[in-house]
Amino acid sequence: MTPAVPDALDDGRLLDDLVAMLGIASTGGTPEEVEVQAWLAERWQEEGLEIDRWDIDVAALAADPEFPGMEVDRRHALGVTATLRGSGTGPTLLLNGHTDVVPPGDLDAWSADPFTARRMRVDGEDCLVARGACDMKAGVAAMWAAVRAVAQSGITLRGDVILAPVSGEEDGGLGTFALLRHGVRADMCIITEPTALGLVPGNGGALTFRLTLRGLAAHASMRTSGVSTIEKFPVILRALQELEERRNAVVDPIMSRWPIAYPLSIGTIQAGDWASTVPDLLIAEGRLGVAIGETVEQARADLEATIARACAADPWLAEHPVEVTWWGGQFASARTDPDHPILRAVSDEHAAIFGTEPEVYGGPYGSDLRLLTGLGGIPTVHYGPGIPQAAHAPDEYVPVAQVTDAARAIARMIVRICG
Ligand SMILES: [Zn+2]
Repeated sequence: MTPAVPDALDDGRLLDDLVAMLGIASTGGTPEEVEVQAWLAERWQEEGLEIDRWDIDVAALAADPEFPGMEVDRRHALGVTATLRGSGTGPTLLLNGHTDVVPPGDLDAWSADPFTARRMRVDGEDCLVARGACDMKAGVAAMWAAVRAVAQSGITLRGDVILAPVSGEEDGGLGTFALLRHGVRADMCIITEPTALGLVPGNGGALTFRLTLRGLAAHASMRTSGVSTIEKFPVILRALQELEERRNAVVDPIMSRWPIAYPLSIGTIQAGDWASTVPDLLIAEGRLGVAIGETVEQARADLEATIARACAADPWLAEHPVEVTWWGGQFASARTDPDHPILRAVSDEHAAIFGTEPEVYGGPYGSDLRLLTGLGGIPTVHYGPGIPQAAHAPDEYVPVAQVTDAARAIARMIVRICG
């Protein structure tokens, strides 16, 4: 149907753009998070796309009752869209991808500087390695190359295609929330998150929580006169492990490929301030997976009731119950209607290149999909390059062939949907 488009794709330019983007250390809350957005706006302006660029009023958005949460200190953010105009008679397709990345973590675990992209073989495959290679600058580079290929092919589209890079996805979804509050709408959306070119029409959610345990301080030489929060915490941890098991006993079939569809995990624990004092305060933070079809309120109530029951069964905790607070990223679960044409379009155009339809499955992670489908009312799927297991890891990588294949497939999807 679209023979001209794949031929027009310039793989070398795509990879040069990706390497340049990976060189901008755009971790959440840094000036580079703004810089990468500005850099894309400039590149896309040079390429003749219609640019909308606006300063995001982070404080005003944070006061919005539907604000999705934020976990870093961020004062500034930049909204950007770049539109390839159609004739105005067809559907509008939004291509969304986040440009923020998570911090590199332990630098010793990396084989070289995380923000200098390099080509190396991983499991025998030609890959690009850098923080953000997989999650998800490869996806942003692929959607960019796809739009450029369509623009240069001479095909006149009926509908518009909008490139929408966003900040702050990793810690809540500020950028996509700002995009929707700015008034950007479309008939359907592809988020080019890493799916290894699978079709992901929905995902579980993730709620960040904090637990506060209070004990009784005492000199360690007389520790039995105090109550150690470190010794009480296992009571809570066991209850949470049982909760995770119960919540994953029966899951939606599109989630069945994962060892744990809706993980509940403790990420940080802080307790005590002196080696020879019984610790009287423990603060633990974690994330609770939200099931597809379950509301945020239901998931929170499930965890709160579990904690309350565990406390009630312990003499000290019954008198000093653990406090649960919900803060930071609050990602609902979401799912696009399996019969929506966006699924068929993605599946058919993928099959046109690879000969087989893509695997269809749900993601175990929260993403901007729930904002686009929920607040925006835009049927949305994930489809993009990168092995999800490589995300957030040291020596994060993306197979080069997946990036160029994704761009070809997305170019066909644009023509199919907007042509
Ligand atoms: Zn991501």
